[in-house]
Parts: sequence; structure tokens; C-alpha cells
Amino acid sequence: EEAVRRANALEKDDLYSLRKVSRQEYLKKREQKKLDELKDEIEDEPYLFGGEKLTETELREFRYKKELYDLVKKRTQDEDNVEEYRIPDAYDQDGGVDQEKRFAVAVQRYRDLDATEKMNPFAEQEAWEDHQIGKATLKFGAKNKRASDDYQFVFEDQISFIKESVMAGENYEDVMDAKQSQDLAEKTALEELQEVRRSLPIYGYREQLLQAVEEHQVLVIVGDTGSGKTTQIPQYLHEAGYTKRGKVGCTQPRRVAAMSVAARVAQEMGVKLGHEVGYSIRFEDCTSDKTVLKYMTDGMLLRELLGEPDLASYSVVIVDEAHERTLSTDILFGLVKDIARFRPDLKLLISSATMDAEKFSDYFDTAPIFSFPGRRYPVEINYTTAPEADYMDAAIVTVLTIHVREPLGDILVFFTGQEEIESAEENLKQRIRGLGTKIRELIICPIYANLPSELQAKIFEPTPEGARKVVLATNIAETSLTIDGIKYVVDPGFSKMKSYNPRTGMESLLITPISKASATQRAGRAGRTSAGKCYRLYTAFNYNNDLEENTVPEVQRTNLASVVLSLKSLGIHDLINFDFMDPPPAEALVKALELLFALGALNKLGELTKAGRRMAEFPLDPMLSKMIVVSDKYKCSDEVISIAAMLSVGGSIFYRPKDKQVHADNARMNFHTGNVGDHIALLKVYSSWKETNYSTQWCYENYIQVRSMKRARDVRDQLEGLLERVEIEISSNLNELDSVRKSIVAGFFPHTAKLQKNGSYRTVKHPQTVHIHPNSGLSQVLPRWVVYHELVLTSKEYMRQVTELKPEWLIELAPHYYQQKD
Ligand code: ADP
Ligand code: MG
Repeated sequence: EEAVRRANALEKDDLYSLRKVSRQEYLKKREQKKLDELKDEIEDEPYLFGGEKLTETELREFRYKKELYDLVKKRTQDEDNVEEYRIPDAYDQDGGVDQEKRFAVAVQRYRDLDATEKMNPFAEQEAWEDHQIGKATLKFGAKNKRASDDYQFVFEDQISFIKESVMAGENYEDVMDAKQSQDLAEKTALEELQEVRRSLPIYGYREQLLQAVEEHQVLVIVGDTGSGKTTQIPQYLHEAGYTKRGKVGCTQPRRVAAMSVAARVAQEMGVKLGHEVGYSIRFEDCTSDKTVLKYMTDGMLLRELLGEPDLASYSVVIVDEAHERTLSTDILFGLVKDIARFRPDLKLLISSATMDAEKFSDYFDTAPIFSFPGRRYPVEINYTTAPEADYMDAAIVTVLTIHVREPLGDILVFFTGQEEIESAEENLKQRIRGLGTKIRELIICPIYANLPSELQAKIFEPTPEGARKVVLATNIAETSLTIDGIKYVVDPGFSKMKSYNPRTGMESLLITPISKASATQRAGRAGRTSAGKCYRLYTAFNYNNDLEENTVPEVQRTNLASVVLSLKSLGIHDLINFDFMDPPPAEALVKALELLFALGALNKLGELTKAGRRMAEFPLDPMLSKMIVVSDKYKCSDEVISIAAMLSVGGSIFYRPKDKQVHADNARMNFHTGNVGDHIALLKVYSSWKETNYSTQWCYENYIQVRSMKRARDVRDQLEGLLERVEIEISSNLNELDSVRKSIVAGFFPHTAKLQKNGSYRTVKHPQTVHIHPNSGLSQVLPRWVVYHELVLTSKEYMRQVTELKPEWLIELAPHYYQQKD
């Protein structure tokens, strides 16, 4: 008992401080601990991390573990035979456990996870956790037996919540009474959809809204998420005849939202997607001459402005989800405000889900605010009683607990990205399998940007009777998409955010605590169709003391180079006086100008150069565009656009099935033969696929995601089209890979790092310690000089997609930026 108490105390104490710091610091702290621990192991003087000396038995176990670990490692060096050395599960049928075997299993799992780390940036930390948990269990003998009752299994590690408050519902009434819904069954699908349309809160305000649009040029619209703003307003405008004079454009901050909403509206109007209703996102245009309602990402409307500076083909522009304050939305604000002044016939609607509409109104010369009540049911807010160390695990346990205990109703869980969602899906599936038939069916629906659209549609399918759906979503489900039937929300309290240091010019993706405003939106998702519950995986204290009120607008925490280039090519030169709603830090603007100057896109006077004009044609980051423009000089544009296309589909090229990890790793390493660097490896993947005539079978054989490849091919096709537009010939120079490398360096020279004695790297221009990502083909090679594509911060600051370079190239390719040291 004393031991358990000590273990608890240790953990609580350890965990308590966690939430008081940011996740970044938290990870750093963990990292440090892990290092300390490793040090102990290496020096063979194992201490508990609390500082206590290990007992004799523990020490023995430790050594035994180390031996085993080494043995397993040695045996599996012949990696193809790894299967033969798997150690059987240590649990016997009666639930007893063979400690020795158990230990071995733990070691094996540790080893497996160690390998997984190569693919999953969090695995390192997860492995450490697993290891710690294993150690604690071993030490204190907490669970010697596997729980015999499966239900108990769920409750054993359940999380304790306290109900803190109830978020009041307003104006709620049942959407449809039983009689009505019975009637519905007899109607056709289209009639049914019309019925649903009429049941949305906004429907009651249709006439008033149309009248307000008629009377005012600019209107700020505020209504709860899910009340019908995005899907209905464009249709109302169409019905009222606005589309006779031009298109109705509606911007969305997210690709998935633009696609999914357009699909829904096409369905409601009974037309084919891409005809009257279409969408346009980067590298994908699903519109035609017929299109009158056009959903698009805010970034796409910005690009359209390059070709049509007065938006002449539009009669109405709706800047939707304005509260998200993405970089593109903020820039659009300034541009459409200006256009509206000289185009009195253009209607401008700014639509937002939050109540801080005054700010939008003030910005748009005190435009009137049209706000209408939604239909909100009360939502009970629960907080954890103590901070949770691992929100991934806590989220899964909470989902299972809800599933077993709470009445039917769907669950929505917020994660920070694709990797987390995939790992949660896997984990949930496994645990459900473990629970067998004792529980109801749980349908798992992931949703994130790269998910193929067929699967995206799955989240909207009605849940079968008697089953429950759990939607694992990114921030997209916070306000952009509304899924009916959600009754429970699990909110770990984090999201992935870009963060930018204007001093160093370094940008990184960070997992960051969300704002109170986001937390409120997330909770609100549970009260859409009935009263609901929200489980926050943090304490009320954390909520009150640690969360910011609002999310910082992206314009204040991002690299502005791309935007500055677009603005320059729109003829906007005076950036300091650009009408920003919240101006970016002046430093960030200066940094962007400096970078564009160094890239040769601007001259000394800050004017667009010929290269800059060409670069602006590509819907890519200026560094990528520069790489492409330069490839003309080195006669390798063919290779370089393949690389650019592969880079732009992100890190989801290779996959690694649990049972075939070794094969998958071998297949992957094939592309790295000769330590060519990650960019060239990507090129090899693409060219090999092309050689097989884009074979799906080839992808399977090489553990490559076929849909990522298809996307890369689409992107590449478009880049090829753009090459023609900027008069760059397609030329190939496969025998001279250094010319490809030089093109990369010509674009990415600000991203260079030099090897340090301890095996880490230091970025060259603004010294910072970074590491080669374990996924990289060069992670074991450690070249002296490298250029990297991007930095990601997980447990460490990692460089992703790395290539070796010769330092003299820096002076040759970026003389403004680098000079020879005397
Ligand atoms: P708002 O923009 O005010 O948040 P929306 O217009 O997005 O509201 O949503 C209105 C309704 O349409 C919601 O009930 C939502 O569930 C439904 N809806 C939106 N998109 C889809 C879709 N792709 N499939 C099914 N239903 C959808
Ligand atoms: Mg909306």
C-alpha cells in the first residue's frame, strides 16, 4: 500500500506541474527526464527518477532487462527473421502472469516502439511512457492479473471528472417532432432535404436577411455554428436572383470544409457537384462555366484576385468563418474592403460563429450586424480532477467509458492532426476488439484534411440504430463542419498551430493549448440536437488560469513571405500601411521583405523582379517557387517539379503496417541507396512509380500510399502547366543530381544547418539546435552540411526532408545571405 501511495504521489507530483507549462516545455522536461534515465542506464548506476537508489532486486531486474534488450537487438540485426524471435505473450489462460516472460514482452514492445519512432514523431515519447508504466507496474505490482471482467478493464484506468458547470441552452425546441419525422419517411429524398433545410434556425430569418443584404453593401452575419449560414445563405442569394449578375463566392479556411459543404449544397439543390455548385481548392478546381455558387478556400480567392483584381465575375462575396482569422482571411478583409469601395454593386458578407462581431463591424466602416439566435441545448461541462499526462490515452479511455456507461448518442473527439487520429483509431479498434461482444457497436470515423473524400462523407452518414459513432476530428469540426447527432464531446485542449519567430525567421508547427473561445465552440458541438456533455481533459484550474481568451490571429504568428509576394504582385507596395485588422509585427514584415530580397524576388527598392513575378505564379511557398524557377538555369525542371509535388503532399507517402514494419522499412530504405538525401529519394519514388505506369500494385509492394502518390501526380501536372505559363522549359538532367541539389539550395538556403560534435545540428544563420528527423534517410549518416525542408517540433526540434549540400554553394547561390568567413 505504501508503495502504491508512493507511486501515486510521485506521478501526481510529476504530472501536476505539467499543465502549468506549455506542451513544449512539458515535452522538453520529459526529454530531459528520459535523458537522465538513459544516462543512468548507460552508467549502469540505475536510480529511480525520484532520486532513490534501486533495491538489489530491482537492480537485478534492470540488468536482466538490459541483457535481454541487447540480446533481442543482436538477434534482430538480421531483420528479415525478426518474426522468429517474437516473444509470446506472458499472460496465461487463467490470467496469471509469468513475470520473466512479461518482462521480455515489455522489452520487446519497447523495442518495437523504438522502431516505430522512425515513423511517428510522438513514438519516442510514447515509448518512454510505456516503459515508465511498465516499470511502475513491475515495481509496485499494481496489476498482477489481467482483469477478468472486461467492463472492469474500462473502469480500472478510468479518469475522474467533476461536473463544473452547464453551458446554458437558448431558444431550444425540438427540431422535428415524431409526427413530422414520420411524415418525412414518405417523401422523396429531395423533398426530405428541403424539409431539413426549413428546419434550420436560419430559415426563420430568410426574408429579413435578404432584405438586409438588399439594403446594405456590407453586412456582418453572426449565428451559431450549425445554424445554416454556410449551406443556406448562398442558396438564398441564388433563389433571390443574385446569381443572375455574377457568381456567389463563399470562402472557407479549410479545404475539407469547402469540398464537403459544396457537396452538401449540390445535393440540396439536386444538381451535380461541379455544375451549378462547385468548389475550388489549391490544385483542385471542381467548377464549370455553369457554376454560380462557388465554395473555395480563402487562399484560392486570394489567387483569383491576381487574375481578376476587381472580382468582376462575382456579385456577392461571403467571407465565411471569419472568426477563424486565418492569414488569407485577414488579407482578404483588406482587399475586399477596398474593392467594395469602387464596386458599389458588389455585396460583401462577413460571417462568423462568435459574438465578437463588433470588431468586424468596426473594421468594415461600422457595417450593420445581422445576428440571429441558434438552437442550443444545454451542455454539461466536466473537467478532470487532476491533470492528465497523456491526453491521447486519456481521450481513448474517456471515449470507452462514455461508450460503456452513457446513453446512446455520438461522440466527437478533437485531436491535433492526422498522425494522432490514425494512432487513436488503431488504439480504439484494438481495445474494442479486446472488449469483444460485451459492448455495443462503436463506429469509428476519422476526419482530417488528407482523408479521401469518400471517407470524409462517412462522418455524415446516420448512425445505425443501437450503435454509436465516434468521430475523431481535427479542428475542422470545431466550427467549419457540423455533424448532427453529437451528444458527447471529448476535448483534450490542444491544437496544432503554426508558430513563427520573426527574429530568426523560423517557423514551426507546434501542439499548443487551445483558447477559451475554442474550448467553448468545441463544447457547443455537443448541444446541437439534444442536451449533451463535454469532457475536458484538463482541470477547471487550467481552464481558468492557463488558456488564452482568444486564439491569436494567424497573421501575427506566421511567416509572411508568401503573402507579401502576393500583395506585391497585386501592386500593393505600401505594406506597412496595409489595412490589417490586426497588423502583424513590423519585424515579421521586414523579415518577409528580407527573405524575398534574398530569394531575388524583390530588388533593392522592394519592387518585384522578373523572377519574383514568375515565383508569384506558383501557389507555393516562395522558397519552393524559387527552387522551381532556378531549375530552369540548371536544366532540371522536370526533376524539381516532381520533388516540389512530393513535398507538397506532406509526410504521408510511406506507410508502415504493424505486422510488416521491417519490410516496409527495407522498401523505404531502397530509395535512399547511396545516401542521396530525402529530396532525391522522393524523386526516385515518383520516377519509379511513373516507370511502372503509375501502378497501384507497385505502391502496395513498396508500402507507399497510393492516394498520396495520385495527389502528387495531380499537383505535378498543374505545376507543369504553370511552368509553361512562366516560360520555363521542361528539361531533365538526371545524370547530374547536384544540379537538382543546387536548385533546392537556391530556394532553401535559409534552411541550412551544420553538424556539431555531439551529433546534433546548428542552424547556420540564426543558431539553434536541431536534429535530423528519425524518418530521414540521412538520420544515421549525419552529413556535415544539410539543407532541410521544414522544422517540426515534437519531442525535439526536428528537420524534416534533409539533403546534403556543399558549403561553397551557399556563397555561390545566396551571396546576399552568406559570405565567406575570413
Ligand atoms: P453553419 O455554417 O451555420 O455552421 P452549416 O450551413 O454548415 O451551418 O450547417 C447546417 C446544417 O447542414 C447542419 O445541420 C449540418 O449538419 C448540415 N450539413 C452541412 N454539411 C453537411 C454534409 N456534408 N452532409 C450532411 N449534412 C451537412
Ligand atoms: Mg459554417
